[in-house]
Amino acid sequence: MNARPDFLLTVENLTVSFDGFKAVNGLSFYVEPNECRVIIGPNGAGKTTVLDLICGRTRATDGKVEFKGQDLLKMREDQIVHAGVGRKFQTPTVYEDLTVFENLEISYPKGHGVFGALMFRRDDPVKERIHEIASVVFLDDLLDMKAAFLSHGQKQWLEIGMLLIQDPELLMLDEPVAGMSVAERKQTAELLNRIIQDRSVIVIEHDMKFVEDIATRVTVLHQGKVLSEGSMAHVQADPKVIEVYLGH
Ligand code: ADP
Ligand code: MG
Repeated sequence: MNARPDFLLTVENLTVSFDGFKAVNGLSFYVEPNECRVIIGPNGAGKTTVLDLICGRTRATDGKVEFKGQDLLKMREDQIVHAGVGRKFQTPTVYEDLTVFENLEISYPKGHGVFGALMFRRDDPVKERIHEIASVVFLDDLLDMKAAFLSHGQKQWLEIGMLLIQDPELLMLDEPVAGMSVAERKQTAELLNRIIQDRSVIVIEHDMKFVEDIATRVTVLHQGKVLSEGSMAHVQADPKVIEVYLGH
């Protein structure tokens, strides 16, 4: 089967077996350009594993993952990043001893590791881009602050900025608002709504208010399979979803 060209990401029959246990089991879904797809579902449903499979961290047992015509299942993690897929893990991984500016600078695509990037001349286009991204992630007033002094929410934003500076066409975020205040969640929703004008995003999230604020479409995962998919209103009204997830 050929992927439809209007999909940015095609996932078909994706399966991974850990010692016989299928954490992801024949999963198919399709992401369009400029879409914010939210994946919800109970703990252990396989949500994080799906992102691990797409970004090449975990090897699939079977199935297909195609991104802009490229077969991601045949590529290494670094090649997948280079192809335009960025992935954020659940806990923020920023360099605490570096400033916000430096964290963004080492993430700029020309940098090769911490050392190479810091030696890299701070020429104007790079500086400009750092300022631009810092303002997108609400950190433009904090560029000289060490990341260690940021709040948990600000660290999450910084890490999103570190991915955005690489200009991915697909950005994948695992529970980005966990531990954030209500105000920070609202700001993060604004941030996501802004950045999908230039890319697609896949977000794993539990906070239904936040999901409602950001989702183009929602995919409900259960036991490694799609239980339901559609608009927020559609999945919220689906008796199967209420039974295994929303009812609890
Ligand atoms: P979710 O993110 O939806 O909570 P996960 O994708 O983390 O769920 O996990 C799905 C299931 O797969 C869980 O039962 C988990 O224990 C199992 N699992 C995930 N990664 C591995 C692994 N590397 N080896 C064995 N089992 C794993
Ligand atoms: Mg998870």
